[in-house]
Amino acid sequence: MYFSKSFIPILKNNPTEAKIKSHQLMLRVGMIKQSSAGIYSWLPLGFKVMKKIEQIVREEQDRVGVQEILMPTIQSSEIWKESGRYDDYGEEMLRIKDRQNREMLYGPTNEELITEIFRSSIKSYKSLPQLLYHIQWKFRDELRPRFGIMRCREFYMKDAYSFDLSDEDAFFSYNKFFLSYLKTFKRLNLSAIPMAADTGPIGGNLSHEFIILAETGENKIYTDKRIFDVDYTSTILENSSLEKLRRDYEKFYSVTDEKFNKAEFENKVPTEHRVNTKGIEVGHIFYFGDKYSKPMNASVDFNGKKEFVKMGSYGIGVSRLVGAIIEAKYNDKDEIMKWPISVSPYDCAIIPMISKNDSSNLEKSNKILDYLKSKNIDPIIDDTDENISAKIKKFNLIGIPYQLIIGKKTEGELFEFKEVGEQTQKLKIEEIASQINKAKSN
Ligand code: ATP
Ligand code: MG
Repeated sequence: MYFSKSFIPILKNNPTEAKIKSHQLMLRVGMIKQSSAGIYSWLPLGFKVMKKIEQIVREEQDRVGVQEILMPTIQSSEIWKESGRYDDYGEEMLRIKDRQNREMLYGPTNEELITEIFRSSIKSYKSLPQLLYHIQWKFRDELRPRFGIMRCREFYMKDAYSFDLSDEDAFFSYNKFFLSYLKTFKRLNLSAIPMAADTGPIGGNLSHEFIILAETGENKIYTDKRIFDVDYTSTILENSSLEKLRRDYEKFYSVTDEKFNKAEFENKVPTEHRVNTKGIEVGHIFYFGDKYSKPMNASVDFNGKKEFVKMGSYGIGVSRLVGAIIEAKYNDKDEIMKWPISVSPYDCAIIPMISKNDSSNLEKSNKILDYLKSKNIDPIIDDTDENISAKIKKFNLIGIPYQLIIGKKTEGELFEFKEVGEQTQKLKIEEIASQINKAKSN
C-alpha cells in the first residue's frame, strides 16, 4: 500500500472531544469516524485491526469446537415476550415497527433467538452438547455512550451459546470457553484476568468477567498479583484439567467493585500482593441454567423424559478490544503506539527519505515492498514528500510495530530497521523479512 493512495485521514492534533487515549488516537490516525452519538464508521486502518481481532476470536472458538452461524441484527419482539425480557430490557433496546406495524427490535444480545433456533431443530439429548456462536453487530441504546468505541451504541460482538443436558455437562462447556478466552486474549497480547462476577437475580450460577488492567477502565478492580502467574498452557480440553484451571484462578481474590468486600480483600490478599486499580471488561461468560429454556420450552428427550436444556452465554467485545488494546499499549506521553503484530494494520512501514530531484530512495522502497510481499509480509510505503522526522512521528502514532527507514544512512545491502521502542539495527532485507515473519508466527 502507498500512503499517498490510502484513506488514512490523520489529524494534526489530538481531538479535544476525546477524553481517553484510545478514543483520541483512533480519531487522530483516522481509524474511525463518528456518524452520530455512539455510532461510528470504521475507516480502513481501524477496520483492518478489528477484522484481525475478529479472526483470532473466530479461530479460538473453532478450536474448542464451537460452530459458527450468523443470526440477523433485526429480531421479532415475539420471542422476547416469551422470555419475559421484552419489558425488562427497558430503554436500552432499540424498538422498531415495520410497515405491517409489527414490533421488531435491533438485537442487543441473542439468547432468545438462539433458543428459538435450537428448539426448532434439536429434539434428542444425543445431539448435545451444542455450542454455537456468531460475530454480529449489536445495538444498545446506552444512557451515556462515551469513550469512542469503548462504550458505544452500535458495537461488534462475538456471542456464543451452549446447550447441555445437565449442570455438570454445562460446566464442562463453560470451562471450555474459560480456557479459550485466556488463549484468545493472549494472542492479542493482553493479559486479561477472569474475575468472578455477579450473577444477578438467579443466584448460585457461574459468571466471570475477563478484565484487562487500565487506568482509564470503567470498572474498579481488586485483585491479587499472583493471579497473573497462573499457567494455563498445559491445560487440556478435558473435564478435570479444565476444572483444575478454574480452581487455580479462583484461589486468588479477584473481583470488580460490584462484588468487592474490603474485609475479605484484606484478609485474603497479603499487602504486597494487593492490586487496586481499574480495568476494562473485554469478555463475559455466564451460566444461567434453564432461565431461557424453561419459559421458551426448549427441551430434549432423555429416555422418554422431557428435560429443559441448560444454557450458558459467552461474549467478547470485538470492537471494544480495538480500544482496549490501545489503552494497554499506547504511550501517550511520548505519543508512541505499538500494535501487537497479530492485529497490526500493516506488518511493516517502509519510510523513505524523498527529495524533489532524487527518487532513488522511492525506487529502492518499491523493490523492498515487492520483496516483503513475496515473503507474505504486508507493508505500507510512505511515498509522501513530508520530511523524514514528520514521517517517523506519524508512524509512531499509527503504531505499525516495524519501521524500515531508507535515508542517508542506507549503505549498500544494509537497511535501518527498527522495532518500535527498540534500538535501530542495520540488517539485510532477508534478515528483516525473517525477523518479521518470526514475530508473526509466535
Ligand atoms: P457492561 O457492564 O460494560 O455494560 P455488559 O455486561 O452489558 O457490559 P455483555 O452483555 O456481557 O456486556 O456483553 C459482552 C461484551 O460486549 C462485554 O464484555 C463488552 O466487551 C462488550 N460490550 C458491552 N456493551 C458494550 C458497548 N456499549 N460498547 C462496546 N462494547 C460493549
Ligand atoms: Mg451493559
